[in-house]
Amino acid sequence: MRAGLRVTVTGGAGFIGSNLVGTLLRNPAIGKLTVIDDCSTGNTRSLGTDLTEVDFRLGSVLDADLLNQAVARADVVVHLAALGSVPRSMLAPLNSHHANATGTLHVLEAARNGGAPLVVAASSSSVYGAQPQLPRVEDSRPMPVSPYAVTKLASEAYLSAYHASFGLEVLPLRFFNVYGPRQRAGHPYAAVVPRFIDAALSGQPLCVHGTGTQSRDLTCVDTVCQVITTAIIDRVSSPWPVNLALGTRTTVLELIDVLAELLDVAIEIEHVAPRPGDVAHSQSDPTRLRDLFPGITAVPLRDGLARTIAWHRQQRANSHDLAAGPSASSTRPHTQGRPCTS
Ligand code: NAD
Repeated sequence: MRAGLRVTVTGGAGFIGSNLVGTLLRNPAIGKLTVIDDCSTGNTRSLGTDLTEVDFRLGSVLDADLLNQAVARADVVVHLAALGSVPRSMLAPLNSHHANATGTLHVLEAARNGGAPLVVAASSSSVYGAQPQLPRVEDSRPMPVSPYAVTKLASEAYLSAYHASFGLEVLPLRFFNVYGPRQRAGHPYAAVVPRFIDAALSGQPLCVHGTGTQSRDLTCVDTVCQVITTAIIDRVSSPWPVNLALGTRTTVLELIDVLAELLDVAIEIEHVAPRPGDVAHSQSDPTRLRDLFPGITAVPLRDGLARTIAWHRQQRANSHDLAAGPSASSTRPHTQGRPCTS
């Protein structure tokens, strides 16, 4: 076994989690890496060959026994497991609440039982909701407008409370719109970047909700992994939420322009009704992030999108090769939500 820090990642078979696992495995400061994921939206295939390097536990963070075992003796817990997506939470608010809010409480209890390690957890910029102040400052009043946002607000509040009540070191990170390789399209809750790339590569129109002038602070997953890795190794903590985005603002139409240039394909846009629960603009004030992580170097949007497009092209080439092979009838492109393969 490798010597070094023992880290447990919840939601490690998901988009951000599997990228983080890859980043941590390449870092010599990291020793044992345990992953817990119920594969409700993620899939162990996202981990590729990294799966063989980690102690993977298939199950829910709502399973206290399994969670206690996965967290026991960990130096740091990175809690990413959640049911993402605003629309999903509007269809089934209780499911989102159980997985996200109750799930976070279970993780904090397991961390407390396991010897009070540092707990780094994913919150979301959605907690700002109807708050009109731009850029988003952590101390402004959260005004969530979706059940998903409330689950994230509850989660980060639990982290702050566990710090105040039990002295647990915590780091609630408010992710903004994270994009990058391993973020899949082809399911009803796909995020905008993979959805657009997939549609453009398939020759389909890009479906834009509303006018397309709504803006987002797009953050490459490599930047997110860099921040979390630094937090683990330097044991960075904060009882209060920290925005994890660098203060950029890209409208949906600007994103399409960059994608069109990088993809070098003709793009057709189809405007549809705005989605309830979506916020008009989202931009981080990164002051607190930069204070805590002065060495952070963000991946520029064009570079991050180019890497993401390359991954999508590779995925399509792989599934095309498989489909052309002898067992074509049983090989289809992998999409999120399928059962785990192990
Ligand atoms: P994802 O859906 O790809 O990954 C989440 C993982 O958690 C999946 O592998 C899923 O199977 C797992 N999971 C769900 N419920 C679980 C449970 N009860 N027990 C164990 N595992 C469970 O999502 P992601 O984009 O990688 O997001 C990671 C975290 O970041 C989530 O907490 C999400 O809410 C948060 N976040 C993401 C973004 C973004 O832009 N991707 C933005 C804001 C916040």
